[in-house]
Amino acid sequence: MKNYDVIVVGAGPSGMMAAISAAESRKKVLLLDKNEQLGRKLLLTGGGRCNVTNSGSVEEILANVPGNGRFLFSAFAQFDNRDIMAFFEKYGVALKEEDHGRIFPVSNKSRTIVEALVARLTALDVKFSPKQTVSRLRIENKQILGLETNSGSFSASKVILATGGKAYPATGSAGEGYELARAAGHSITQLYATESALISSESFICNKTLQGISLANVNLSVMNAKNKAIVTHRHDLIFTHFGLSGPAALRCSSFVNKELLKGAEFVNVQLDAFPDCSQAELCQKIGRLTKGSDKNLANALSSLTQERFLLFLIDQADLTRDLPAKQITAKQIECLAKLMKSLTIRIDKTFPIEKSFVTGGGVNLKEINPKTMESKLTQGLYLTGELLDINGYTGGYNVTCAFVTGWVAGHHAALEC
Ligand SMILES: Cc1cc2nc3c(=O)[nH]c(=O)nc-3n(C[C@H](O)[C@H](O)[C@H](O)COP(=O)(O)OP(=O)(O)OC[C@H]3O[C@@H](n4cnc5c(N)ncnc54)[C@H](O)[C@@H]3O)c2cc1C
Repeated sequence: MKNYDVIVVGAGPSGMMAAISAAESRKKVLLLDKNEQLGRKLLLTGGGRCNVTNSGSVEEILANVPGNGRFLFSAFAQFDNRDIMAFFEKYGVALKEEDHGRIFPVSNKSRTIVEALVARLTALDVKFSPKQTVSRLRIENKQILGLETNSGSFSASKVILATGGKAYPATGSAGEGYELARAAGHSITQLYATESALISSESFICNKTLQGISLANVNLSVMNAKNKAIVTHRHDLIFTHFGLSGPAALRCSSFVNKELLKGAEFVNVQLDAFPDCSQAELCQKIGRLTKGSDKNLANALSSLTQERFLLFLIDQADLTRDLPAKQITAKQIECLAKLMKSLTIRIDKTFPIEKSFVTGGGVNLKEINPKTMESKLTQGLYLTGELLDINGYTGGYNVTCAFVTGWVAGHHAALEC
């Protein structure tokens, strides 16, 4: 049996940062992963360029973590997105900021980020042991003693569980962490897909009428059973052969799933394709474009939006595309403007967790000390990253939460050794 001060399970961003912060306090640290390669999921983020964090203020970052962001205030008071950027810059990674505050390595390669983490782990003498699938935590009298893997038994008075969620299981994060946490007495809140595309059975989706249309900077709202908007996201949207994708759809997905979990058969989303114009202003615009015009309706309104989307709206409003524009009535203008501002789209489901970017739900935060990430049920056991009931929007927010909770857990585990 091998002895360590701290054992970290999972070499994702959370586990790697936990191992680094524990080793910076001169502790003997072992990092285990079932994979041969470190940071497999991290390599996929930001379209393979690694969206390493976000430049927003702490308040902004936590507002972009709809799954229990507020739990993270004390963790962010100890280590935040500025510290993440400083860490990478200190260890030789030049960073750049892109739209929506997203931070990437200048190299545009995820590998740069993983290599910097690996170099720091090596410099700190963290032992990395690959191909180790942790199957059991050894706990006695509510105190962690170590763990067992497919190849042996390891002892430590501190164990950090950073095994991620269930999304993209081929990366190694297949959800075993939930079972390990359960065996340590933890409860797991309902798991659901987040940052997922939205699937719709609307006839215009099934007919692929709008497939491939991309709308920039629209408002997409998730409606509740009383037809009230639960949340509205201003972002880009893509119509696909199955439904809706793009950042606006991904951001709405957790809210859609929460409504579906309440028992709804489907959830409506509402698209405002002209969020910078009120309905009255749109009516005036349509009035101006059509008044006295010798063009047909589709041609007269062609400056408003993309042709296929406009033709679809004209059809939805029960108008004829080659209606002489000057013949449109005030009532028909109002109907068209209403569709432009609030097109209702039925959403039947999202992709399953396995095909989504992030897992919603996880280890119940009531059972975790927010200052240290230590389990309130088992002394010496720390839980971090996506394994917890925390989920953020894509844009670097999940990676940031993983790094921050990992750093905090590693730091406190080392302090208590
Ligand atoms: C395609 C894709 C794109 C994404 N893009 C973004 C983005 O742009 N911005 C953003 O913020 N987030 C993004 N995310 C989400 C982000 O990658 C995750 O939230 C983040 O990686 C979670 O970090 P983690 O360290 O908690 O877990 P993970 O990165 O999932 O790491 C967990 C590790 O634990 C290991 N492990 C699991 N079980 C065991 C076991 N029993 N024994 C040993 N090892 C085990 C796994 O092999 C894995 O290496 C994306 C996710 C995907 C799938």
